[in-house]
Formats: sequence, C-alpha cells, structure tokens
Amino acid sequence: TSWTAEPERWVTIDHAALAHNVETIARWVKPAQVMAVVKADGYGHGAVEVAKTAVAAGATWIGTAHIREALELREAGITAPLLAWLHTIRTPFRAAIEHNIDIGVSGPEIEMVAEAARAADLPARIHLKIDTGLSRNGAAPEQWDELCKRASELQQTGIVRVVGVFTHFATADDPDGEAAVDEQLAAYHQAVDTARKHGLTVDVRHVANSPALLSRPDTHLDMVRAGVAIYGLSPFAERTPEDLGLRQVMSFGTTVANNKPADEGTGVSYGYAYRCQTPTRLALVPCGYADGVPRIAEGAPVWIDGNYYRVAGRIAMDQFVVDLNTDRDDELTAPVGAPVELFGPKSGLTSDAWALAAGTINYELVTRIGARVPRIHK
Ligand code: PLP
Repeated sequence: TSWTAEPERWVTIDHAALAHNVETIARWVKPAQVMAVVKADGYGHGAVEVAKTAVAAGATWIGTAHIREALELREAGITAPLLAWLHTIRTPFRAAIEHNIDIGVSGPEIEMVAEAARAADLPARIHLKIDTGLSRNGAAPEQWDELCKRASELQQTGIVRVVGVFTHFATADDPDGEAAVDEQLAAYHQAVDTARKHGLTVDVRHVANSPALLSRPDTHLDMVRAGVAIYGLSPFAERTPEDLGLRQVMSFGTTVANNKPADEGTGVSYGYAYRCQTPTRLALVPCGYADGVPRIAEGAPVWIDGNYYRVAGRIAMDQFVVDLNTDRDDELTAPVGAPVELFGPKSGLTSDAWALAAGTINYELVTRIGARVPRIHK
C-alpha cells in the first residue's frame, strides 16, 4: 500500500559490498573453503539474503548458532551445506537431520543426536567441537578421548557420520593474544590426531573466525568461519575495514524530522545532560534506542547532508537531537527532510564510531538494529 512505500528510517544492505568481501576472503584463504556465518539474522543484515549472496560469491558453507536458524535457511531454499553449533535439550535435532543440517557436537548432545538419527532412520552429520581454551562450548580436553570413542562407535553403526572437528579462539582479535592462539591451535591439532586414532577421518578441519583468518594464515586449514568480516566490519580495534580491503555492507539512514532555534543554555533531552553553549539550532533525528541506536552513545557522530555533528544529550526510545552549532536564525542548515546518515558510504562513518561511543563493538551494534527499521537490499 502507498503509505508503506518510502521508509522513514532504513538500513541499507549493499550486496555488491557483501559479494566483494566474500570474494576477497575466498581468494585470501584459498584453497580453504569459506563458511559464511549468518547467525542472529545475518548479524542483523538478513540471514536469507546474506546467505544467497555469500553462496553466489564463493562461500561453500553457511553457519548458524541455532538449528532453528538453519532450518529457516533451508525453508528459504538455501541448499548449501549448513552447520549449527549451539543446542539445548529442546533443539529439533530430528528436523536438522531430515533437512541435511550438520550438527556441532560438544558432548552433552551426542546421545540426543543419536536418538534423533535413529528416529529419522538417517545418519546425522556431525562436527565434534573441542574447547581448546575459550572455556565456552566444546568438550574439555579431558572429555575429548571419550567423545571421539563414542562418536566412532556411533559412526561404525551408521548412526552418525563425523564430518569435521572444530574449535573457537579467545584472543585472535588482540595483537597481544598471539601466544594464546598458538596454544589453542596446538591443542586443536592434537585433538584431531586423537580423533584420527579413533578411526575418524576428519575431512573438514575448521578453527578460524574473522580475526584469525585475517591475521593468521596458519589457521585457515580446510575451512574458515567468516562472520563479521563478510559484513565489511573490522574485528580489530586498530584497523579499519579499508585497511583490510573490506567494504561496510550496512548503512543506516533517515531524514531530519524537525529543526528549530534554541537559546544559549537550553537544556536538551531527558535530564538536560546537554546544554547549548551558544544560541543555535537543533535538528531532530527520528531514530532511538528502539531502533538500535544505543541510549548510551551520547556524543556519537552524525552526518547530515554533507556536514558532521554530534548527538546532543540523551538518546530516547524513538529520537535524538543534534546541535547544529549554527546561528539560531539560520534556517538553511539541515532543514526538515535533509538526509541523515548514522553510518554508511555518504558519510564514510562506520558502525565502529557508534560502537565506540556506546562502549561496545561493531558486532553488537549491527546485530541490535531494531526490527521496526526496514532492511533495504540493493
Ligand atoms: N565460529 C563460531 C563458533 C562463532 O560462534 C562465531 C561467532 O561468534 C564465528 C565463527 C564467527 O566469528 P566472527 O564474526 O568473528 O568471524
């Protein structure tokens, strides 16, 4: 209907940039394969759309955290190999097996997976996960031998097929974390040896997330699991996407909703956390924390029609204010309807600037863009 035709605030997903990033990574890690990680609705970018473009650009695997996320991709027609790795007692393992979704197995789920495979009368494709030091999911080193033994028994009876072994790094984004990555990698290789001693072939060895794949070629092995980098975001505090040859995929835009004069000393937004230092004009940006603009990001940069400003005062649920630092009688700057970009190609701003102002990381910023902000895929 006509009233929904032009969005009032929007997130744009640049599929040419996404394809460029996937191609760049694929070239860099070759002959290793690329798994595009699209959990959490493709880090807020739209999982189905991202998966389609990533596969067309050379990703041969797709990864999610939840099996339900992988099932949604299958329902949308994604036929590439899929792996999901975080489960509970309520996970629909049987549906995963019936839809040919590979299952990450850290230990507790192996009997649940075996039971589901028997019920489905199909072998479950599994990837065993070893905890080499992140201390999150994965089998502890002392549980590893037992897990391999059990997987091997189940494989011999055709209940499961062990496709891969994987782990996840704790410190690959940190230049001071090299030694810890070395230790995790050594422990991983030892775990693969153990699996092979149990008769498991381990065709797909995969360990690298974005920071590891970008900084440590020795972690590429048979496949990398690329998340944040495919979205053109840097996993490193000190390096920009540009430094890495990547292009930001998401941009966030809207238009100025109000523009009015204010006197020196005027308090702005809840609690008067900001006061105008001079007579000025204030522009209203119609996006707030319900849209994913973090409430805490006071002072973050905003682009309005070619000029850069800062958030003045508290960000509210639906809106925030910028001080235009202009003469209070000047109606020319940032008029109602002027284009606003929080981050994107017009401004050159990245979601890192917003993440920094909010004391978080770009991963969280893009993942939390509100559901009421339409994603425009182009
Ligand atoms: N592999 C696993 C197991 C993950 O949980 C994640 C995301 O945290 C990734 C890979 C992708 O990480 P990144 O976005 O840093 O590439």
